[in-house]
Amino acid sequence: MKKIYDFVVVGAGPAGLMIAKELSAARQSVLLVDIKKELSKVHRSCCTMLINEPNTHGETVRFVDNDLYFEKTGITVKYGHPYVKLVKSSRLSTGGNKLTMVNRENGVALPYTKEIILRNLLEESLANGVDVLTETAGIRAENIDGRVKVTLRDNHTRTLKEVWCRACFAADGCNSQIVTGLELFRTRKYFGSYRVASYFLDEVEYPNWDSWITCLGKGHTPWGKGQIYMVPKYLPDAKKGDKPILDVFCGTPCGLPAKMGLDWFLTEGPFREWFHNAKIVHKAACVLNFYTCIMNPVEGNIVVVGDAAAFIETYCQSALMYGYLASQAALKVLSTGKGYDEYTSFWRESFEYCHPGEIEKALQAFGLGRLEDEQLNYIFSLTNDEEYAGYVSENTAGYVMQKAIMGHIDQIRKERPEIAAVIEQHWKSSAEDNVHQ
Ligand SMILES: Cc1cc2nc3c(=O)[nH]c(=O)nc-3n(C[C@H](O)[C@H](O)[C@H](O)COP(=O)(O)OP(=O)(O)OC[C@H]3O[C@@H](n4cnc5c(N)ncnc54)[C@H](O)[C@@H]3O)c2cc1C
Repeated sequence: MKKIYDFVVVGAGPAGLMIAKELSAARQSVLLVDIKKELSKVHRSCCTMLINEPNTHGETVRFVDNDLYFEKTGITVKYGHPYVKLVKSSRLSTGGNKLTMVNRENGVALPYTKEIILRNLLEESLANGVDVLTETAGIRAENIDGRVKVTLRDNHTRTLKEVWCRACFAADGCNSQIVTGLELFRTRKYFGSYRVASYFLDEVEYPNWDSWITCLGKGHTPWGKGQIYMVPKYLPDAKKGDKPILDVFCGTPCGLPAKMGLDWFLTEGPFREWFHNAKIVHKAACVLNFYTCIMNPVEGNIVVVGDAAAFIETYCQSALMYGYLASQAALKVLSTGKGYDEYTSFWRESFEYCHPGEIEKALQAFGLGRLEDEQLNYIFSLTNDEEYAGYVSENTAGYVMQKAIMGHIDQIRKERPEIAAVIEQHWKSSAEDNVHQ
């Protein structure tokens, strides 16, 4: 490691790797730092579905020749591995009733393998001459006399070291350490925290290989809180013709052990018969701290990118896109002295959670699980045989679900007025009401 670089990138997820690759391709000296030992290994839970709904966070991303193609940005990210086309997205009650969104032509989402994207970007970055420090944490970034001093800590020796650069990128994810040391951190509002545990499972007897399943309702977890998700995807070493495995997630409000919730769901939950012979082939976990977005993601020469600036998640695809755009902005600043304003404006316009009301709407869809199981079973019995056009997207699925349920409100008012009152009230609930569910 040198003492001075053009750029230091803290965090080697999709955002950080994209920045490192792009800046090094433009012949800038780049140091990439991550706390992980092996940068392309994925230990953080992530469904890794390509959210293929057009204009997701201002961009439309699709597979072209098995690579990720970003229509508006015009970039291609190397993939070259199998992916899954899911045609349905269902909310499933404990009694097995559903609310289902469908897109048979394009799919509701296309799960892929994150490790492959990270591996390809890392190879390209290394080939361009990026210096990489693994098992090292970015602790602090400070603007000093037009440059940035970045303090790093070696995970093994716990010793601190300093490195200087023209600009530093905080791409260290949704619990960013770098961001907590910046003034702009004070602009954020904290909602709560969530734990997630997930297993890749082989040999499941599963009836929904074409669907993204979200289990809603108290009876899916031992404590009546949290959510279960299931997504088929391919292992990093999958070959053409291999079957996908099932990635199963349990998310719980913090304080509750997500792994215990997941084990309970698999062995005692309402759909336990799917998992009698299941074999765990990989485990992952994470903690999510829910904050409002950073509206001005640039402080001096420190640029906050991807999940580090976001309300929970930008998605991998958008972390790649914002990483690309942030790298181009930094190159523009080098040549013209300006460039970050454009990046900031695009971030605010394109990232839906920067818009008023979007966090509340997404959390309302997420928080439906706080209804009683019997109430959800009844509501989903009305939608069970229907299909609604839609995608897997935090920013639009809530609207589709609300419309679908409210399409039955006259019947609900007549048959179950107490449930009608609860559901009508639910669409007025706050982010705080729902985040702890
Ligand atoms: C349960 C769950 C499901 C999801 N499902 C999807 C999905 O279906 N589709 C999708 O596209 N996205 C999904 N996401 C979101 C996706 O994982 C993120 O949006 C994406 O990974 C963000 O990329 P990033 O580069 O900004 O951050 P990250 O991928 O979090 O990368 C941050 C990197 O920084 C490193 N790091 C952290 N702290 C430090 C530090 N102090 N110093 C140095 N390095 C550090 C980490 O090790 C990591 O490598 C999901 C996330 C979760 C939690």
